Amino acid sequence: MSTNSNGIAQQTKFAPSVGLPGGTEPTLVGSKEVLVGRALARLRSIPGDLEKYTFLASLKSRNENIFYSLVGSHMKECTPLIYTPVIGLACQNWSLIHPPPSTYQTPASALYLSINDLPNIGQILADLKTRVPKDEMEISVVTDGSRVLGLGDLGVGGMGISMGKLSLYVAAGGVNPKATLPIVLDFGTDNEKLLADPLYVGLRQRRLPDAECEAFVDVFMAEMHKTFPNMIIQFEDFHTTLAFPLLFNNREKYPCFNDDIQGTGAVVLAGAIRAFALSEIPLKDQRILFFGAGSSGVGVAETICKYFEKQGMTEEEAKAKFWLVDSRGLVAHNRGDTLPEHKRYLARSESDAPKLKTLSEVVEHVKPTALLGLSTVGGTFTKEILQYMGKINKKPIVFALSNPVKQAECTFEQAVEGTGGRVMYASGSPFDPVQFEGQKYEPGQGNNMYIFPGLGLGAILAKVKSIPEDLVHASAQALADSLTVEEKERNLLYPDVERIREVSMTIAVGVIRAAQKLNVDRNEELRGMNDAQLLAFVQNQMYHPLLDL
Ligand code: NAD
Repeated sequence: MSTNSNGIAQQTKFAPSVGLPGGTEPTLVGSKEVLVGRALARLRSIPGDLEKYTFLASLKSRNENIFYSLVGSHMKECTPLIYTPVIGLACQNWSLIHPPPSTYQTPASALYLSINDLPNIGQILADLKTRVPKDEMEISVVTDGSRVLGLGDLGVGGMGISMGKLSLYVAAGGVNPKATLPIVLDFGTDNEKLLADPLYVGLRQRRLPDAECEAFVDVFMAEMHKTFPNMIIQFEDFHTTLAFPLLFNNREKYPCFNDDIQGTGAVVLAGAIRAFALSEIPLKDQRILFFGAGSSGVGVAETICKYFEKQGMTEEEAKAKFWLVDSRGLVAHNRGDTLPEHKRYLARSESDAPKLKTLSEVVEHVKPTALLGLSTVGGTFTKEILQYMGKINKKPIVFALSNPVKQAECTFEQAVEGTGGRVMYASGSPFDPVQFEGQKYEPGQGNNMYIFPGLGLGAILAKVKSIPEDLVHASAQALADSLTVEEKERNLLYPDVERIREVSMTIAVGVIRAAQKLNVDRNEELRGMNDAQLLAFVQNQMYHPLLDL
């Protein structure tokens, strides 16, 4: 490296990878920092979110080192562009932005499998194996796009989510980008707009019945395991009626988990562990109301319920702390409709459970210490409900977790104002800090990205055979324990997102130890390490983009 007359480092090794046509190398390309700075300046000059997304997708395919350096060093700014909320926009517009550059430049960098591929899955994966850039593939995010974020059925547009999550595995969890594989299973779509759209890039036919999708996934999982035996599979954004059976059918046979159910459960549990402690109300006196009883709501509620059991309650005592509300009102066995399987475990079982329809009615009946929204319906935590939560609690817990921002049950500002600044708040999408009566309040973001990169990293490094619930709990506990003294003094529920790689390391260690305890680890070398050695090992294994330039 040399320095020019302005003292700017010159680095001629790099191709002009950002914003210039390939092949023409200007005299001054710049140091690594200049390359990242140039990409950041270009990104900030682009006005539209979707255009910012396509710029970043293009940068990722042309120079993943600069892309991951940029994302890693500007986490707060870039995460909303490569993940929620902008990823939702990308998925909705997938047919227009397809193929993103990374799909055509490296043929093995994304995989679409349609129902017509069923007889050939084994062959397709075997062919793919010859083209993957790394011998050992480590992690795949698999979706059928049937329920993307809170946006419904987006068909093969779900590929955006698989790619976005894997970008975060790399940026936040230090997984090697060449060991990641995004997959979409194209079971058709029930989205009328896509069915009628001649530009739609997926199968233009209605979705298969769930039973046929399950049978397809049985074959897919067996073939994946045969071809890539150590691959961790993250199920993502499957419709609720499919998400639960897929998890239960596969979780003991293969190393897999469902992020909507378990990742959300863990990240909310971690925030709740902090909030319960700050609320100064003992666990046995908590009353927790879930607004929304889909895969996320039920997954979170069951995760917290199991945590209560681990803290010494009996199963029945723990279950009694929970109330669920869905679009028909309070979820109870005596409601008079047939409850789907996933809602039964925590349905109220008292024979005289009142038949309450609206959230306000249920809030008044339950008098919750904690109100959690996973309903996909924005603005449903009204001023009256928030004021009531503030009236009955010294430190009310309000988590408005639906994404994207406009579907959050209430904004941070509304929660702070409604409760007179006493709320302990977390949301799924980011909100800015709020000034209220001369004081600054900071929101928590209960985003799955705190959990899945560390959980995945730990699972990869331990080479787990399966991912039992204890590993998910370990990831939540490690996240809750990862706040610094300074973050605790600021009353934060989650650590600063800029520290995410450090947090992911801590989570990975917690997950590896839990795997060892349950004997589901295959990398037995790690057993002999003490905690400091294990942490150093995890850190050493993490991908660092700048060093690879
Ligand atoms: P889902 O569609 O499976 O479930 C939605 C639930 O809300 C259903 O039980 C439905 O009956 C209920 N509901 C819908 N409208 C209602 C209404 N008007 N009144 C009462 N209940 C109503 O969705 P899901 O997968 O469970 O996800 C829910 C939300 O959680 C999404 O917005 C998603 O973005 C969000 N989420 C957030 C995170 C996170 O940030 N950590 C993670 C996962 C999911």
